[in-house]
Amino acid sequence: MTEREFAVECVRTLQSAGFRALWAGGCVRDELLGLEPNDYDIATDARPEQVRKLFRRSLAVGAAFGVIEVVGPRDASRGGEHLTVEVATFRSDGTYSDGRRPDAVTFSSPEEDAARRDFTINGMFFDPIAGELHDYIGGRADLDAKVLRAIGDPFARFAEDKLRVLRAARIATRFDLSVEPATFDAARQMASQITVVSAERIADELRKLLTHRNVVVGVWLLRDFGLIEPILPELIPGLQYWPRTTNVVTALAPKPVAFPLALAVLLRDLGRPTAEAIADRLRLSNAEKARVAWLVENRNVLLDAPTMRPSRLKPILVHPGIGELLALHRAIAVAAGHDVGHVEFCETVLRETPRGELDPPPVLTGNDLKALGLKPGPEFKRLLDAVREAQLDGAVRSRDEALALVRSLPPAPG
Ligand code: ATP
Ligand code: MG
Repeated sequence: MTEREFAVECVRTLQSAGFRALWAGGCVRDELLGLEPNDYDIATDARPEQVRKLFRRSLAVGAAFGVIEVVGPRDASRGGEHLTVEVATFRSDGTYSDGRRPDAVTFSSPEEDAARRDFTINGMFFDPIAGELHDYIGGRADLDAKVLRAIGDPFARFAEDKLRVLRAARIATRFDLSVEPATFDAARQMASQITVVSAERIADELRKLLTHRNVVVGVWLLRDFGLIEPILPELIPGLQYWPRTTNVVTALAPKPVAFPLALAVLLRDLGRPTAEAIADRLRLSNAEKARVAWLVENRNVLLDAPTMRPSRLKPILVHPGIGELLALHRAIAVAAGHDVGHVEFCETVLRETPRGELDPPPVLTGNDLKALGLKPGPEFKRLLDAVREAQLDGAVRSRDEALALVRSLPPAPG
């Protein structure tokens, strides 16, 4: 059984028991666009406890919001995981006193459930048994016209949930929508209030926006909505040069780009410490933070690749991020109308040089130094670095040559 078939079955079960049941939100939008939905959501007038009685296995995942996860058979195409569908009781959301989530919800009708959703294209229902669309908010027309429009009063909707301005930019990016003028206006006026939203939720939306193939639309909307100032204030002094950034983004697209590289494009002129501070603020993993920092730090390094000493160039070429660093260099060069000879030089070196030459096993180790009677410490590292440098430059080829070099080096100052 496919996830879609399971989602049809769940609707049938609810309807057969006398309830109203409809597919809701994102899955309806995706089906109308001919896309395969990420997941299917069902909205119903059955109460959560009634939903649970109808299905053999279910979980109360969002008890406060009346959301039940119905668990279906295992699905071989997804590594044997169970099929699942979320079933939520039609509801209206109460007041939003914290600017993030409703204080309470009331069970209600499909019309009211549509009205609490964010954008018209996300607010439709579909009855897969009758094959009928239930569109109370003009979602179909907006989807056909590729328009993003807030449901109801855009100011009120953005004021309720301050994340919605960023969601607007992300969804317009994903479906290549133009933003309806009143929605646009309200987004601009509410953008600065996104600071009440947690960094994790902001980063999550930013990640989806920046890693989408249509990201160019997104980076313009981030600026036009005024989201850069509250989310990445470090970029304010350079905002007048935003087209330079969008040109780099354009040069990278439409290849899919991972979040660290996408972020490095925005942060490229801020320097490593600032990029690290931003990565911390956005709660990136250590691995992602390290990649952003490395890319920002080295964003110009390969410009001189053809004349660089091998001991400087080789460690960069064997770094796991080299593919992204070359993509960044190429995009920066293309965006500025400059030559990409340095990038092609590196690609040729990478293609034609055996790995053992780019990253040879060390000729000398800490144990060799210990055998010479040296004690581990900073001096150790200095000597090993000097040997490694000489090895990569081809000046030292054997252990004996390495030992000779160690003996010839002057002691560390102080
Ligand atoms: P995806 O394909 O990413 O799952 P989606 O539109 O299904 O897209 P979800 O986050 O799964 O997104 O949300 C499901 C539905 O819930 C949305 O289509 C929308 O109707 C509603 N929704 C989600 N987030 C909000 C929000 N912040 N405010 C109002 N409605 C929302
Ligand atoms: Mg969804």
